[in-house]
Amino acid sequence: MSETQVEHQTLPIIGHQAATAFFSRVLSHDQLSHAYLITGPQHIGKTTLATQFAQALLCGKNPACGMCIPCRQFIQGIHPDVSWVNREQSEATDALKKNISIEQIRQLQSRAYLSSFGGTYKVIIITEAHTLSLEAANALLKTLEEPTAKTVLLLLATHEKLLPATVVSRCQLIRLQPVADQHIYEQLMARGIERKKARQAAAASYGLPGRAITLATDVDVATALRQQVRDFITFVQQDLPGRFAFATSFTADVDREGVITQLRLWKALLRDIALIQHGSMSYLAHQFASHELEQLAGRYQAAQLYTLIERLQQAEADVAANVTPRLVLEQMALHF
Ligand SMILES: [Zn+2]
Repeated sequence: MSETQVEHQTLPIIGHQAATAFFSRVLSHDQLSHAYLITGPQHIGKTTLATQFAQALLCGKNPACGMCIPCRQFIQGIHPDVSWVNREQSEATDALKKNISIEQIRQLQSRAYLSSFGGTYKVIIITEAHTLSLEAANALLKTLEEPTAKTVLLLLATHEKLLPATVVSRCQLIRLQPVADQHIYEQLMARGIERKKARQAAAASYGLPGRAITLATDVDVATALRQQVRDFITFVQQDLPGRFAFATSFTADVDREGVITQLRLWKALLRDIALIQHGSMSYLAHQFASHELEQLAGRYQAAQLYTLIERLQQAEADVAANVTPRLVLEQMALHF
């Protein structure tokens, strides 16, 4: 199966007002492009944005009414004119395959040329488009170069540099930026999440609404974060070979996105240590680890912390833009 049908309960998107306004203008002026590329880190809201846009397009109202037949079909994941393309699971290991394959794109193309069942639009949503194999991306180019009337492609990717330039140049690019913690906090409260939990989840979200929601609602994710913070404290206290070994083994188990999340975690923890040095304890992103982090505060000069934070910022950009994650993390481990 190249296509998974997923239920899409539409909760309002958190943040991204500019992108939402952009799609509203597209819908209200009927100025549809053939293809859109939405970029941003995992959990920032790419799927939510694409889902809202696709549903509004098929419903004919913006925001979508949620009641009409196309809306109900969309929400149940059974709309005949919507195709989702995701990475498939390996039959042997159940793990996600590394790439979206050319066969998946070919299947998609055979359907894209059929006219829509509902007589309106056909919507194709390719999640993790940065995992398209090169052959798959080249095959997709054919669809992008010869647009079929009333077919709209939505490509979601962590970074446009991970896609061939020929694909990117044929899409309208919408880049999503991290959302302010305060806004995430308010939206979590609006969804009925208890104040303290909402505050902590927003603070440790790194501006990613999806991360905040899982931190606030999934005990396992919150527990995993505590473990990651403990791992960081151990990591910092290790000698150079120890830190280097951690970087090497970590990147063997984790994909590019996982490495980026790790770099963000390190950056947020160093910012917490800088705040502790300033005595601004109430602003910590990882309040629950304040005692352990206090013990690290004497280890660094303020200037050293800022240099490290800047390096982490650069390292994150490098990994997002296709530099080998292992090299970046090993290089970074040398500087702590
Ligand atoms: Zn509707």
